Amino acid sequence: MPFRKRQHAFALALVHCFLLAPLAHAEWFSRVDDGIMGTRISMELWADDPALANRAIEAVLAEMRRVDELMSTYKPTSELSRVNAEAALHAVPITPELFKLLQTSLEYSRVTEGAFDITYASVGYLYDFHKRVHPSEAAIEKALPGIDFRHVLLDEKATSVRFSQPGVRIDLGGIAKGHAVDCAIAILESMGIRHAVVSAGGDSRVIGDRLGKPWIIGIRNPRSADPNAVITRIPLTDSAISTSGDYERYFEEGGVRYHHIIDPKTGHSASKVLSATIIGPTATRTDGLSKTAFVLGPEEALRIINKLEDVDAVFVTPEGRILYSKGLQPPQ
Ligand code: ADP
Ligand code: MG
Repeated sequence: MPFRKRQHAFALALVHCFLLAPLAHAEWFSRVDDGIMGTRISMELWADDPALANRAIEAVLAEMRRVDELMSTYKPTSELSRVNAEAALHAVPITPELFKLLQTSLEYSRVTEGAFDITYASVGYLYDFHKRVHPSEAAIEKALPGIDFRHVLLDEKATSVRFSQPGVRIDLGGIAKGHAVDCAIAILESMGIRHAVVSAGGDSRVIGDRLGKPWIIGIRNPRSADPNAVITRIPLTDSAISTSGDYERYFEEGGVRYHHIIDPKTGHSASKVLSATIIGPTATRTDGLSKTAFVLGPEEALRIINKLEDVDAVFVTPEGRILYSKGLQPPQ
């Protein structure tokens, strides 16, 4: 049956083209940059044109700088700094981008029963983890009434924000990196990139796969001195993953570990887990949810995560146990 045979040979040739064409022309391009948002930006993407790959990489870095200029509290000229300076006095008109992220932040405050709260900064600004500075109990007590996400009043019609009282500060350090990663991925997709990973510190998102296999993202061992030591590896395609850890920015004094995730109820570092990883559809979402277990503890956080259809979690408890959400448990 020559016809059939020919058809078969044609099909085989097609398969060959399919397999060999990308290998012959396309390749992986990667970049690491340590100078933006106070963290490490890294990316890897698959492209068949080195010029396009370079343009895409530069566009991602420019996007990270843009988000940083808008949302950093370290930059006095940022839109967020202007909000902190003025919003207790009057409503401050803001860009739709910042407005939407504030809306999302307040939504996550409700979802996490107050664990995620951008007004943590009302006390949080008194810490300096580089300089080993922490506030006294008296200073915390004085500033604590400023923490409550309900103090942030958004006016959708005017696209403006106001604080209900003096002493309120907001900081997007717990969600802006995820947002920047999502913005970067949108840019890559608009440029025709179909396979990539973008990370800003502990927040990553992948599109497509890696040569037909999932991307593999390792979850770091929170107590190993070796930054490459992992407790487990998670295969991912078209998803985001964020890990928060008490080892990221901290110092120890008198047996206490002061680190950068703050319990909004107490103004102290939140230490109910050593690390928390969230997997979900966007990095804004996984970043916003990755603080929950530190504040509420792993059981309460699992109760919340297990109710959400689109996210999963891996927590490392202070005793070193690893807990997985429903969706990551092997079928019984
Ligand atoms: P990274 O900066 O490495 O992405 P995380 O995602 O773990 O780290 O976020 C930690 C940051 O979140 C802190 O540095 C601080 O800016 C902010 N933050 C701390 N506590 C809270 C909280 N309770 N709610 C919201 N944001 C917080
Ligand atoms: Mg983060």
